[in-house]
Amino acid sequence: MNQTNVRNFAIIAHIDHGKSTLADRFLEITDTIAKDKLKEQFLDQNPISRERGITIKLAPVRMKYSLEGRDYILNLIDTPGHMDFSYEVSRTLAACEGAILLVDATQGVQAQTVAHYNSAKKENLKIIPAINKIDLETADIERVDKELKDFFGFSKEEIYYLSAKSGQNVDELLKAVVEKLPSPRGDSNKPLRALIFDAVYDEHRGVIAFVRIVDGEIKKGDKIKLLGSGLKTDTAEVGFFSPFLSPKEDLTTGEIGYVVTGVKDIRLCRVGDTIAQADVQNTKPLTGYHTPKPMIFFGVYPKDQNEFVHLREALNKVALNDASLSISSEQSAFLGTGFKVGFLGLLHADIVRERLTQEEGIEPVLTLPRVLYKEEKGEIFEPFMNLTVFIPASFMGAVMTVCQQKKGELKNIEYHDKNAVLSYEMPYSMFIRGLFSELKSVSSGFASIDYEITGYRVADLVPLEIVINETPIDVLSELVYETDAYQDAKQKTEKLKEVLPRRQFRQIIQAKIGGRILSRSEIPPFRKDVLAKMSGGDRTRKDKLLKKQKKGKARLSNFGRVDLPPQALFSLISDLKRE
Ligand code: GDP
Ligand code: MG
Repeated sequence: MNQTNVRNFAIIAHIDHGKSTLADRFLEITDTIAKDKLKEQFLDQNPISRERGITIKLAPVRMKYSLEGRDYILNLIDTPGHMDFSYEVSRTLAACEGAILLVDATQGVQAQTVAHYNSAKKENLKIIPAINKIDLETADIERVDKELKDFFGFSKEEIYYLSAKSGQNVDELLKAVVEKLPSPRGDSNKPLRALIFDAVYDEHRGVIAFVRIVDGEIKKGDKIKLLGSGLKTDTAEVGFFSPFLSPKEDLTTGEIGYVVTGVKDIRLCRVGDTIAQADVQNTKPLTGYHTPKPMIFFGVYPKDQNEFVHLREALNKVALNDASLSISSEQSAFLGTGFKVGFLGLLHADIVRERLTQEEGIEPVLTLPRVLYKEEKGEIFEPFMNLTVFIPASFMGAVMTVCQQKKGELKNIEYHDKNAVLSYEMPYSMFIRGLFSELKSVSSGFASIDYEITGYRVADLVPLEIVINETPIDVLSELVYETDAYQDAKQKTEKLKEVLPRRQFRQIIQAKIGGRILSRSEIPPFRKDVLAKMSGGDRTRKDKLLKKQKKGKARLSNFGRVDLPPQALFSLISDLKRE
């Protein structure tokens, strides 16, 4: 296929604006999948092993399309829709020449619309704006027109008006993909350079890299090397996405396809890396390669130590398909042996937790989250982010109050008609201190956000220790801001009082910093009614029983100074998480 007849593009949209539905219409129009086989949202199923997991991404797909007697190949690639995966989004967009910017006619421009637009612009993509769901009565096309102009400078003449659901005007949009998007740049005479924009692990064939051929070509059997990881391997197979894996002889400049590498470790074949021919010296790597750093850590423990081996195997299996997970071992006096697992963000952690349950059949305990701190010369540094909050202007006051409470420094306010875009500098740790849910709740669900980590700053963090009957409880202790310490201490001691069952001995709960007690609560012992079954008035027998009880209590309080039933501990941890 001639390079000039190829179009590589993505659909970018805020969640639920209709990306999957539109993709389905494209598959129908191009007869890529027979209509009777086209299930709703076909591409939501990934071709390989992710089929069973939660899809954060659709499968790439190659479509054939004819226009005015010429045959074209259209490659549609999906981008993950969540801010935790912004690096993957950027690499996927780098594999394209253009994008459809899809906006729901009833919702208008939202935070992720803006974020994706900016990412696409950064990669120099040509963007086609489209307003979806025009069939709905609540569609407010005029308003969205104006937003597209205000935010991005699009004129009415450039915009497509669709119903992805009914298919109305979808054909015109597909024509525009051919007519308005450029064909792939790149030099077919140069040595191979392929951009890895995604990778999956296949049990039998090892890592399968999803690639965009930037220069040159790749054939089955080629000896290749990865310029970032330094890995060398043989190409077992190359092909394209139909959307199933369809082998072919070679992939040439401008094409999107897959390379079966046989590599057994996905961390050696990372998104953003460059594939080159092994025997060609000094191939220049494609720009933009780096390894995303986990920002949020959880202790992940089996509910019962008997499940430890199962958990270890489950985590390792999930990690086979997830290069951005970091796993090391960790000990807790209360939960036993477990793992310290690093994630890109809270959503990423959620996805992994669901995969552990759905694919591996295990439900581990996740401890309170921690962010990635750095320590230098006795000072603690914390990650900072640029946070963008997108809201209808009527919620401004409430949203600004929340952001201020979360130590946000307001950097900029932009108005677009009835919407406001607020920019803040804020500690990243506010995500584990309820930021997102509080913003949602004060804005009736309308706030949407985007963030970017910008660096580290000194933080006034202090270790808040939870102690029950003199025993420090490691899984409940954490770093807190000095300014919030009293409030956090009080919250924890009160919560503990609420959820811990009464015992035959007194339980004293303290929250401490250094040796200082910030908050304290107490659970009185219950008095087992040892006399209940006695009817008569045998004084000596009564005294004997009461004495026995006292002795028993003394034994218990020595022995069971802390008695944390696992269920109470688990529910406590999940209650204390302020996501
Ligand atoms: P995505 O999150 O961007 O992939 O959005 P989906 O394609 O999953 O669509 C979200 C919801 O909007 C689904 O319930 C779709 O059926 C619905 N939807 C998508 N396009 C249209 C449309 O043109 N008209 C109407 N009425 N509903 C649509
Ligand atoms: Mg979808």
